[in-house]
Amino acid sequence: MMAKSPGNKNWLQAWLEDQRILLWGAADLREFLTPADASGQRFPRAIAWALPIHPSIMASVKDGPNQEYAEEYSRVNKRINELAHKLSVELRSRGHRAQPLAASERTDTTNIMGDFPHKTAATRAGIGWVGRHCQLVTSSFGSWVRLGTVFTDMEVDCAMPLQRNFCGRCRRCVDACPARAVQGNEWYPGITREQLLDAHQCDQWKKAHYYEYHKGRICGICSAVCPYGTRLLRDRKKGRR
Ligand code: SF4
Ligand code: SF4
Repeated sequence: MMAKSPGNKNWLQAWLEDQRILLWGAADLREFLTPADASGQRFPRAIAWALPIHPSIMASVKDGPNQEYAEEYSRVNKRINELAHKLSVELRSRGHRAQPLAASERTDTTNIMGDFPHKTAATRAGIGWVGRHCQLVTSSFGSWVRLGTVFTDMEVDCAMPLQRNFCGRCRRCVDACPARAVQGNEWYPGITREQLLDAHQCDQWKKAHYYEYHKGRICGICSAVCPYGTRLLRDRKKGRR
């Protein structure tokens, strides 16, 4: 757990724990171009969290996606969107501006991106770093997670952003990607997505080979092979989780 919001810890932490969100943090986003609300005002902060994907389902996609993974992906995204809506309502009821970021929505289909990267909010909230595969890696669940974000103007003490990656010499995701889309570079704050991932190559591969699953929107191979995820399975077998 990485709850780093002492200023509003009491109600926010209680609320999040009540929703069984154990991995979350508050992010200072003042240096980023966050989405604007209906009045045209941008948001200075966000509450970011991660929900785990079932480890044995995630491990099962190391050779490509399957129906069980497609259903788990939908289930976790649905839960994230429900939580984001509820948290936004709660924040507004307490007099703050708030706006949820959809769990998995491409608002810019040309550049294959949404309104704002969940990963940026998450690294700034201190809940993980970004792996070579361009996905958030958390200490608790590796990259076997989906991410939620709610923008807000609530005054809250924000976490220390993650500043480095912990991939070391590992290149498993680079070698495993069938589309050769993972570029092999190490993440640091400010690196562009293109330096980490050829999103168009990834997208084309998924559409060509996995169209039966969410019209080619999912794959998961690069995440399934990541040792920060596979160790979860080992720990479960040893009864540590
Ligand atoms: S999700 Fe994209 S980058 Fe990852 S393994 Fe699949 S095709 Fe490669
Ligand atoms: S598979 Fe290895 S290189 Fe890729 S994100 Fe995980 S730790 Fe980093």
